Amino acid sequence: MDIAFIGLGNMGGPMARNLVRAGHAVAAFDLSADALTRAEKDGARVATSARDAASSADAVITMLPAGPHVRRVFGGEDGLLTAARKGSLFIDCSTIDVESARHVAGEARAKGFGFVDAPVSGGVGGATAGTLTFMVGGSDDDFARAKPILVSMGQTIVHTGGPGTGQVAKICNNMLLGISMIGVSEAFVLAEKLGLSHEKLFEVSSNSSGQCWSLTKYCPVPGPVPASPANRDYAAGFTTAMMLKDLRLSQEAAGAAGAATPLGAEATALYALLAARGDQDLDFSSIIRMIRGETGRG
Ligand code: NAD
Repeated sequence: MDIAFIGLGNMGGPMARNLVRAGHAVAAFDLSADALTRAEKDGARVATSARDAASSADAVITMLPAGPHVRRVFGGEDGLLTAARKGSLFIDCSTIDVESARHVAGEARAKGFGFVDAPVSGGVGGATAGTLTFMVGGSDDDFARAKPILVSMGQTIVHTGGPGTGQVAKICNNMLLGISMIGVSEAFVLAEKLGLSHEKLFEVSSNSSGQCWSLTKYCPVPGPVPASPANRDYAAGFTTAMMLKDLRLSQEAAGAAGAATPLGAEATALYALLAARGDQDLDFSSIIRMIRGETGRG
């Protein structure tokens, strides 16, 4: 297929490379010249603008920082929606606010385009290995069109429902992740103070009701889970800044929907403190250091 790829950063770069490797013709655009040079090396055609990339594409993928970028690239007289080929499919893989996702989906639908919001989890490692999880919001037809493209970049493709529900799934999951990481960290710090070893708490909790992903797959202390960032001095992984972004999106959405998420609000405040003390680029599991009372790196 002819695919336009807009936004070739840490995630979009390797995702576009996997599309090329799968045999798609990829027209790439980014504001960064370095990103374009890398995309060209990976076998993509470098476009002169987002509109140029989209003008001959069957599908247009965007992987941009946040909602305002997506609205800007899609909307207005010089946006993608006035440049793309009739009936083409838009796949927005960025993590953005639910309202922007639904707004852009509505605009695309009104102009006769297909649209799915398809945020991902799996990080740069998953983007590079082609093992991302996609959470896809959109109609059955649009999902059916998007899936054969997404399988070249990911392993698990979940149709979450109508437009915007991919973003909803992403922020609900990451709010839960932020809260559970804080809970696991508090348990380890309490155990330290009371003389229980990390290994013994892990052995008990991973086999009892405290069991969760933050404990068994991403343990915030070194030792029990050798692959977790705690064993690499909290090199990310998934940064504190990214977690804070997703938590803020969850709180924006909770406010708009009238949902009570007191622990989500508390997690947002704690991750804001962690970022403010200079640990924004460390892995988000480094929150245990703040809970322990250690000073930040910034
Ligand atoms: P990034 O900052 O590395 O990449 C974003 C790219 O978009 C940059 O190269 C930038 O130049 C480009 N860009 C910005 N405005 C543009 C425009 N108007 N036209 C063309 N290009 C433009 O970010 P990333 O880490 O690749 O993340 C992208 C999205 O994926 C974000 O929404 C992020 O929340 C989400 N995400 C990231 C991760 C991760 O681990 N990095 C994991 C899951 C989801």
